[in-house]
Amino acid sequence: MNIILIGPPACGKGTQAKLLKDKFNLFHFSTGEALREIASQPTKLGLEIKSHIDKGEFIDDKTIIELVKNKLNEIESQNATFDGVLFDGFPRTVFQANALKNLMDIDFVIEISIQKETMTKRILDRVSCKNCGKSYLLSQMKEKTCSVCGGEIIKRNDDNETVAYARYDDYLTKTFPIIEFYKNHKGYHKVDGEKSANEIFDDICKIIE
Ligand code: AMP
Repeated sequence: MNIILIGPPACGKGTQAKLLKDKFNLFHFSTGEALREIASQPTKLGLEIKSHIDKGEFIDDKTIIELVKNKLNEIESQNATFDGVLFDGFPRTVFQANALKNLMDIDFVIEISIQKETMTKRILDRVSCKNCGKSYLLSQMKEKTCSVCGGEIIKRNDDNETVAYARYDDYLTKTFPIIEFYKNHKGYHKVDGEKSANEIFDDICKIIE
């Protein structure tokens, strides 16, 4: 079962992906996380990607498609026993959606919708574990370290108001059109991202099961 999660920044894609991959034994592929990993290295490509991410700009389609193809080949060559792939943050452009169509069949396309105001509020309050990537709302955190792995809690460079607006604009102009692309897909569903993480998870499970 292959699934795509689509939605604006801070709609909860990452949180839902972590819950879904455990429940349905899926390989969670976050292009954002893979890109941040490359951006943390002092290579030409790393510095270039970091500069785009920090400004809230998309990475070019060619680089993304190569990243996805390499990752899919890597999973296949490891003979992994996953029951599918869960794409988190990919595809983000119609070009990427077309490329994915040639790579594999998708069973479910889940759009998680939130208002722009909710996105801004969550982004300003969002922190995450440097080690395992779990997201937290700073205002609701009781501990100073990650409750899952004890890792250090950090704020993403691109989680600030200016960059958030740039990312939202890119979402509206470049990613939103792919919802039209997928609207006729038999597995397309829209869920309300304004709900709590557990409620959204229940809504998605009802769709998939
Ligand atoms: P995310 O962790 O999904 O919020 O992604 C963080 C950043 O990585 C985005 O703001 C983009 O700069 C970049 N990025 C992630 N996925 C993609 C993609 N599929 N296409 C282009 N850029 C991406």
